[in-house]
Amino acid sequence: MKTLFRNGLVIDPSTKLERVTDVFVDQGRVIYIGDNLEQMADRVIDATGLMVVPGLVDIHVHFRDPGFPQKETIETGSLSAAAGGFTSVVCMPNTKPAIDTVDTLRYVLDTGAKLGIVKVYSSAAITYGIEGCKLTELETLSEAGAVTFTDDGRSVMDPHLLYEAFQRAAKLGIPISSHCEEHRLIDRGALNRGKVSERLGDPGIPAIGEELIIARDILFAEETGARLHIQHVSTARGVQLIREAKARGVRVTAEGAPHHFSITDEQALICGTLAKVNPPLRTAHDVEAVIRGLQDGTLDVIATDHAPHTAEEKSRPLDQAPFGMVGLETAVGLTFTNLVHKGKLTAAEAIAKLTVQPAAVMGLQAGKLAPEGEADITVIDPDKEWVVDPKGFRSKSRNTPFDGMRLRGKTVMTMVRGQIVYEELNQ
Ligand SMILES: [Zn+2]
Repeated sequence: MKTLFRNGLVIDPSTKLERVTDVFVDQGRVIYIGDNLEQMADRVIDATGLMVVPGLVDIHVHFRDPGFPQKETIETGSLSAAAGGFTSVVCMPNTKPAIDTVDTLRYVLDTGAKLGIVKVYSSAAITYGIEGCKLTELETLSEAGAVTFTDDGRSVMDPHLLYEAFQRAAKLGIPISSHCEEHRLIDRGALNRGKVSERLGDPGIPAIGEELIIARDILFAEETGARLHIQHVSTARGVQLIREAKARGVRVTAEGAPHHFSITDEQALICGTLAKVNPPLRTAHDVEAVIRGLQDGTLDVIATDHAPHTAEEKSRPLDQAPFGMVGLETAVGLTFTNLVHKGKLTAAEAIAKLTVQPAAVMGLQAGKLAPEGEADITVIDPDKEWVVDPKGFRSKSRNTPFDGMRLRGKTVMTMVRGQIVYEELNQ
């Protein structure tokens, strides 16, 4: 299949390319990027007014497989990724069983590859069962394809264990991805500890619970030389800790999630448990700080923390409903609406945080439009206005706090290895 994208604004942050030109794809590869290409194509896509960018990379998704097919499967998760413009994803290991053995890791990688919708990569757990008690065989898991180690959903509390994990990860050259939460301070809260949690009678999740672990893990990275990736930073002081660590040369990267730069804890007053996520939505001051962190490069990556749950689970009372929200299909809309169109990031800066930068953190061959590279391409209509309607999601779950929200900017086509895996162009 030969495809010619004509006259699109081609943005490839890896080469600082940003101009209106053509892209020609053949046999699953980008063959040429250049003006007025005359190649014979099976399909010519008029990309006038659209952005043609490297396939997006999300290094933080929960596909719930094995164990929770009622929430999501690797198939529905892949379809959701494709609809959002993501061509490569990294799965988190808090499945059942957890991704803590080579068998389970292989199951996830093989299932993703067999489906062939998007490129499915996986993390592996730091401790068996994500229970924080016994380290997994990090070396074997790395050899079998794990791109990062994480107990995401929890923090490893035992400093002896974690110190050893950092030392072994340093030798392997693989990053530790850290979900930061001091469990002994959390005390069954559901929302950010503040005015909203008080009003709803919730004990609250204090910002310092996240910040203590960010600080601790930065020290472990500094001490061992391991690479550390801080997941879903939600607090102003958390951003500042990472900024200071980077300034003194610690090998730390970090991600911001669309919900953490788009909405505050007040969203819980509007949509209840749909706004329950961990780390929680915080205050307007924290949202500002996350945006500043994205602007000055403290936060290298935009990652969704796509976390599907069933309607039944989310209909439980606030203290019993699970944490998390789906994010793959709203990420581009939220990024363009709240960052690009508000002048917080240029389109190229935003695309870098969704492509080459996350790929670099996890060492993935992804996030670039290099000629001769595999043709993973996303087409974005930056001005398309649309209203979020969870009924139309490809994900098996509908748990979003953005239901009914008007956004500007949308993925309109996704291509993986030269094959179109999602399209809503009328051409
Ligand atoms: Zn997490």
